[in-house]
Amino acid sequence: MRTSRIPGFYNMTVEDRRELLSNMNIFTEEDTAYLFSNEPLPTTTADNMIENVVGTFPLPMGLGLNFLINGKEYAVPMAIEEASVVASASHIAKIVRNAGGFKTKANNRIMIGQIQVVGCEDVQTAKETIVNEKNRLIDEANAAYPSLVNRGGGAEDVNVRILNEDAGSKYSQMLILHIYINTCDAMGANIINTMVESLAPTVENLTGGKVYLRILSNYPDRCLAKARCVIPPELLATEKFSGQNVRDGIIHAYEFAASDPYRAVTHNKGIMNGIDPVVIATGNDWRAVEAGAHAYAARDGHYGSMTTWSVDDEGNLIGELELPMAIGTVGGSTHVHPVSRIAHKLLNVDSAQELAQVVVAVGLAQNLGALKALATDGIQKGHMALHSRSVAITAGATGEMIDVISRRLIEENEIRVGKAKELVEEYTK
Ligand code: NDP
Repeated sequence: MRTSRIPGFYNMTVEDRRELLSNMNIFTEEDTAYLFSNEPLPTTTADNMIENVVGTFPLPMGLGLNFLINGKEYAVPMAIEEASVVASASHIAKIVRNAGGFKTKANNRIMIGQIQVVGCEDVQTAKETIVNEKNRLIDEANAAYPSLVNRGGGAEDVNVRILNEDAGSKYSQMLILHIYINTCDAMGANIINTMVESLAPTVENLTGGKVYLRILSNYPDRCLAKARCVIPPELLATEKFSGQNVRDGIIHAYEFAASDPYRAVTHNKGIMNGIDPVVIATGNDWRAVEAGAHAYAARDGHYGSMTTWSVDDEGNLIGELELPMAIGTVGGSTHVHPVSRIAHKLLNVDSAQELAQVVVAVGLAQNLGALKALATDGIQKGHMALHSRSVAITAGATGEMIDVISRRLIEENEIRVGKAKELVEEYTK
């Protein structure tokens, strides 16, 4: 049986972790050859992915453990350069697991394609025509991508707005069409772009205007995923702080982010610390997810916290995170990069909807990890101890010296490159 609860994983050597994974009977020999290889992305594949390739840029990939989401176990692949993110996600996932796990849901994968029409003689009439011809546009969009319709997806709705209607506006008046498209298990950028480009001649005919932009919106506010956790305060207690204390600190930290954009950006960056590594490991477009998530955090006209934290009548801490999640389990580079193909196998998700739910659960865990640390000992204690190895390497430590120097940095409570350089010099004398 698959489990994400692997006690002691953190203390194992990389070789032992690899052996454990190999023995899970999830991967083929070819999979493990890529996963454990020093060249996980062959240069020939890289050269087919982008232009002007001169090499590849590997990132560490770790497993976020202990995730129990809607009763299912997930060992979550996370590709990231920053220390302490994977440890923190796993720590919180264990707490939430003991509280029954994350509950998540996602709605249908409705993405948006936009069409910009400029120069309509009578923009109101043009708008009405589009509304009246909505079904024709839906049919034509679907005719441009029949395989999507055969899968149960395709264009479902059309919406039209006039921008800059006011004669005093400094920008041109324009008609903007939104084509709502169910992209099934694909993120859908290329699918959508194909569909909206195909509609341009008809839209020009119907409106008498000129079509300029025909492209997806990276703000798919009908393609949402939501995660929730309910945690009894005693599960939050640390050696020095009571559970109630930690819970109340978390609520104050949340209220700070909800009311102040300067704090909200950092708070939300911490959420994306969990989200991006999963999006990257699964070969998805993390710029699209980042852009959509931040826009959603400002949907009421004020940039605030992506998460909400509250306390219920029994005193439990309740956390929620809802975000647009433009990701896929097929298409793009999800199965081009050998490691992302393997990451999908490890995650064992059946659909893009399910993957979206895992991603928001990790984001919620990451946020709680940061808030819990901030509300108690502060972030530096745990973070810097884990960061000490990177500091040692930056200072020139190699091989077994990395361990020795990083331990000294922690012991002497001075985790900085200048100090590490002194220690390296001393060690190599
Ligand atoms: P693809 O162009 O790879 O299209 C997805 C493909 O998946 C389709 O061709 C479809 O094949 C196939 N498919 C197989 N099974 C399914 C299924 N169950 N559901 C849906 N499709 C299925 O990728 P996307 O259109 O998803 O585009 C994503 C890529 O576009 C990313 O790499 C992204 O970086 C990039 N991009 C992003 C932009 C942005 O603004 N964010 C802009 C432009 C590109 P079939 O032909 O059989 O239907």
